[in-house]
Amino acid sequence: MSEIFTMGIDVGSTSSKCIILKNGKEIVSKSMIPVGAGTSGPRRVVEAVLRESKLSIEDLSYILATGYGRHMMDWVHSEMSELSCHAKAAYFLYPNVRTVIDIGGQDAKVLRISPQGMLTNFAMNDKCAAGTGRFLDVMARVIEVEVDDLGVLSAQSTNVINISSTCTVFAESEVISQLAQNTHINDIVRGIHRSVAGRVAGLAKRVGVEDDVVMTGGVAKNNGVVVALEEELYKKIHVSPLAQYAGALGAALYAFDKRES
Ligand code: ADP
Repeated sequence: MSEIFTMGIDVGSTSSKCIILKNGKEIVSKSMIPVGAGTSGPRRVVEAVLRESKLSIEDLSYILATGYGRHMMDWVHSEMSELSCHAKAAYFLYPNVRTVIDIGGQDAKVLRISPQGMLTNFAMNDKCAAGTGRFLDVMARVIEVEVDDLGVLSAQSTNVINISSTCTVFAESEVISQLAQNTHINDIVRGIHRSVAGRVAGLAKRVGVEDDVVMTGGVAKNNGVVVALEEELYKKIHVSPLAQYAGALGAALYAFDKRES
């Protein structure tokens, strides 16, 4: 069989991700640029994977876009919802997956997957920042730490505090008042993670949570949220190193299915 290359592009709200896949199973190159829809991110991320793989656009059999900004990609062959793409990638990475929890920059979704890998039900929060990456990004800024460090900080917490407000704006005031009372930031961060986990667990319970549970999206890189969700759901959660690339990976896999062979 000659080599077939397909590309999946995930134009997110906060970041752009792109993957080139060989023969529908091998990742040839991948890249992430931390700016998303409406920025130079999508163009730069495509340039980056082509450069890394030493391929040109003409070498690609099919290009599929997903994510919040997918409608702006008028030069691709087709587009597909993030729901479908995350389900596809989670099933590819973990064939026993039945539940996918995807927390991205501006929404959180919980997907039910059939034993055959089909999306059968989902619940989504895209109306409010609470329970999303945005909530974590706002809180990290308030306590003056990097988002990348949140997981390590919460793991060192010895006395978790409760963030009672579900609204991001009120929760921000609560965090500021905790800082003013000299509460240790590790404990505040763990409280923030519990708050996110509580919101997302509410969504998860609406669709039902069945093993295996897989987390995708950029927030899966925050081990503090993963642990807090495991505690909330009483379930082990699988996180692939490709978690943030799940949308792009699913798009590249669908592109392979759709290509003209
Ligand atoms: P989108 O697809 O909407 O752009 P992503 O799935 O890329 O969103 O997720 C973005 C979120 O992931 C950010 O808001 C941030 O909270 C979180 N995130 C990204 N990178 C990291 C990291 N290294 N450590 C912890 N959290 C991260």
